[in-house]
Amino acid sequence: MQPETTRRGTHYALTELGPPESWGRFVTQVGAPPGIRAPGKAFLAEALHMTGMEISANVMRPGGAVPFLHRHRRHEETYVILSGRGEMQIDGEIIALHPGSVVCIKPDGERCWRNTGVEPMHYLGIQAEVDSLEKATIEDRFMSMQTVRWPA
Ligand code: ZN
Repeated sequence: MQPETTRRGTHYALTELGPPESWGRFVTQVGAPPGIRAPGKAFLAEALHMTGMEISANVMRPGGAVPFLHRHRRHEETYVILSGRGEMQIDGEIIALHPGSVVCIKPDGERCWRNTGVEPMHYLGIQAEVDSLEKATIEDRFMSMQTVRWPA
């Protein structure tokens, strides 16, 4: 099961993941069965019609670990830890993970992570093509001349 588009407008798409406690219902299947089955992993690009990045919402159970090391061909990957405790291994170096930890790994970094705590570890994984960011996001913004109106 993967997230679905909940609402779509001319210039946006919305999906509702539900509270993080419910993210365990998402399962990612990589390749034809049996392939690799990743419970607690939801990829969002399809539901959100994203074209420049991929985001995954993840939950890992206590004692859980990714069972392999991996690298990427073109994507740098940023992990945002929302809850729980864990460890990430990057090129053999161990980094402690806790809420608020944000780690960006270049494509060649060989990585793996595990939940070392007693609570589920919730985290986001964000992938974008390395060297593709041309400007800081604040420089990309420009102000609309429209007045903001909210429904009463
Ligand atoms: Zn990855």
